[in-house]
Amino acid sequence: MSEIIDIRVPDIGDYRDVPVIEISVSAGETVALDQTLCVVESDKATMDIPSPRAGRVVEMLIGLNEKVSAGTVIARIEAEGDARPAAPEAPKEAPAPTPAPAPAPAGKTDCDVMVIGGGPGGYSAAFRAADLGQRVILVEREPTLGGVCLNVGCIPSKALLHVAAVTEEAQRLADHGVSFGAPSIDLDKLRAFKGATVRRLTDGLGQMARLRKVEVVRGTARFVGANRIAVETGEGAAREIGFASAIVAAGSSPVALPMLPKDPRVVDSTGALELPFVPKRLLVIGGGIIGLEMATVYSALGARVDVVERLPHILDGVDRDLVEVWTKRNAHRFDRILTGAEVVAAEAGPDGITVTLKDEPDPRTYDLVLQSAGRRPNGDGLGLVEAGVNVERGFVPVDAQMRTNVPHIFAIGDLAGAPMLAHKAVHEGHVAAEVAAGHRAGFDASVIPSVAYTDPEIAWVGLTEAQAAAQGRPVDVARFPWGASGRAIANGADYGLTKLIFDRETQRVVGGAIVGPSAGDMLGEIGLAIEMGADAADIGRTIHPHPTLGETIGMAAEVSLGICTDLPPRRR
Ligand SMILES: Cc1cc2nc3c(=O)[nH]c(=O)nc-3n(C[C@H](O)[C@H](O)[C@H](O)COP(=O)(O)OP(=O)(O)OC[C@H]3O[C@@H](n4cnc5c(N)ncnc54)[C@H](O)[C@@H]3O)c2cc1C
Repeated sequence: MSEIIDIRVPDIGDYRDVPVIEISVSAGETVALDQTLCVVESDKATMDIPSPRAGRVVEMLIGLNEKVSAGTVIARIEAEGDARPAAPEAPKEAPAPTPAPAPAPAGKTDCDVMVIGGGPGGYSAAFRAADLGQRVILVEREPTLGGVCLNVGCIPSKALLHVAAVTEEAQRLADHGVSFGAPSIDLDKLRAFKGATVRRLTDGLGQMARLRKVEVVRGTARFVGANRIAVETGEGAAREIGFASAIVAAGSSPVALPMLPKDPRVVDSTGALELPFVPKRLLVIGGGIIGLEMATVYSALGARVDVVERLPHILDGVDRDLVEVWTKRNAHRFDRILTGAEVVAAEAGPDGITVTLKDEPDPRTYDLVLQSAGRRPNGDGLGLVEAGVNVERGFVPVDAQMRTNVPHIFAIGDLAGAPMLAHKAVHEGHVAAEVAAGHRAGFDASVIPSVAYTDPEIAWVGLTEAQAAAQGRPVDVARFPWGASGRAIANGADYGLTKLIFDRETQRVVGGAIVGPSAGDMLGEIGLAIEMGADAADIGRTIHPHPTLGETIGMAAEVSLGICTDLPPRRR
C-alpha cells in the first residue's frame, strides 16, 4: 500500500527559522528510510533532515536559503510500507529574550559600558563590550585584575592540585617498579610556582585591557544614582563616573562561621592557598568542591585530614555511585569524613584549635582549620538600592539577558546566582556585554558543567540520576566502568566510571558524569552532546581515538545502544 504524506521538519531543539543550506533530493527520486532530504543550519550546527519513510518524492516544497522550523512541511512523498512511531514532540521553546530598550543616561556619560569587578565575569564583559565598539571603564578594588578565580580561586588551587596529583602519582609508581623515595617539600618554592602562575595570567589581563583601550580604574565603586558611580580611589580621593549601561560583576566572599575564633590557624580558602605551613592535623569544615580540593592539596603535602559536613553527604548534588568511587580512592587521605555533623564550638589554645562537634563529647585539636562552608554574594554595600536595583540576600536577580529590574544595569557571575563558577560568569559576561551593545543575545545554555579537581576528579553536567528520580522523570542510564578501558588500565585508573543519562522518551542525552583522572577535561564532550540534542547513536557512532579515557564516553553510549563489544554481552 502506498500513500501520499507530508514530510515535516522534526524536533530540532530550540531552533526556529533556520535556513535550508542544501536540498539533497528532487521530485521523482526514490528515497530510502532515513535518507537525507535537506540540510539546515543553525548558529551552532548543521542538521540533516531525514525522510521518516521510504518512497518516491512527489514534490520538494522548500527552496535554498528558505527558513524552516520544527513542523514546516518540506516535501510530499508517496510512501511505502508502514509508518514508524511518531517522533517525540518538540520541547517547548525557550523564552525569547526581551527586546533591548535604549538606556536613558542622566547627564554626562564617561563611557558606554561601566563594569564593576575585574573577575572572570567582569573582565570578559568589559573585553567583549570593547570588541563590540563600546567605550568601556572597568573598576576593580584589588591591585590586579582576575578576581577570585585568577588570584585566590580556580588558578592557584589548580597549580597546587597539579603538584599534589603528580606527587601522588609518582609515589604510586612504586607499585610498577619505579620508586622516587619520599617527597621533599620546599614550601617557598611551591608558593613561588603558584604565584608565578597567577601573575602570568593577571599580567596578561592588564595587557589585554590596554590593547582593547578598556580604561581600568583602581578603587571601590558604589552607585550614587541610576547612571553614576563614585569610586573611592584611596586616601579619601573619589572619582565619579557617568555611564549609559553598567555591568555589575562584584562576585562573592567566603562565609565566616561565627563559632570559630579569630586566629591565624583558622583560615578560609584564600588563607589556605597562601600555604602558611603544612599542618600535622587539618580540619576542613565543609565537604564541597573547594573544601575537598584544599584537603587534597594539604594531604599530598603530608597533613592528616578530617572533614566535617553538615549535609548528609559530601559533594552534595553529585550521584552517589561516583562519590563512592571517589571515597574509596581517597580512603588513605582522611582520618574521618563526618557527614550530618556540625561544629558547635572552637577554641584557640597553645596546641592548636580545639573543636567540638554536635553529639560528640570529646573535642579534637587541630593545627589548622579551614572553613569552607560556602560563599556569600557581594550584592550589599554596592549602593545598588540607590540605583533602584533589587537585591535579595546579597544576590541580584536578573532575566535571561542578565538585566536587573533596572534595564540598563546588568548583573553577572557569582553575584547573579548559583552555580558560583567562573565559566558561568564568563558566559553571562558575554551575554550582558552583547545586550548592552544593542545585540540580540540571551543566556540560553541548557547546562553548566561542574568539576571537583580532586584526585580523582569528579565531573558532572546536566541532569543527575538522583534529580531524575526526584522529578519522576523516566531516564535510561548507561555506565561504562573503566576496568574495561585499555587506557585506564594502562594509566592505573581502572577504578574510574563514565555514566550517561538519556531521556527515555526523546532518547536524547540529558546528563553525564565521570569520575577518574582528567574527568573535567573530558566533560566538554557530554556538555556539547546535551546542547546539540545528541542521542546515544550520535555519541556512540562517533569514532573516538583509541586508546583514550575519552573513549569511555563513546563506550557508555554504546552500552546504551546495546552494541558495546568491550563489555560482556548483555544477559538475555
Ligand atoms: C578556592 C576556590 C577555587 C575555585 N575553583 C574554581 C574552579 O576550579 N572552577 C570554577 O569555575 N570556579 C571556581 N571557583 C569559583 C570562581 O572563582 C568564581 O565563581 C568566579 O571567580 C566568579 O567570578 P565573578 O566575576 O562573578 O566574581 P569574582 O571573581 O569574585 O570577582 C569579583 C571582583 O569584583 C571586585 N569587586 C567587588 N566589589 C567591588 C567594588 N565595590 N568595587 C570594585 N571592585 C569590586 C572584587 O575585588 C573582585 O575582583 C573557585 C573559587 C574558590 C574560592
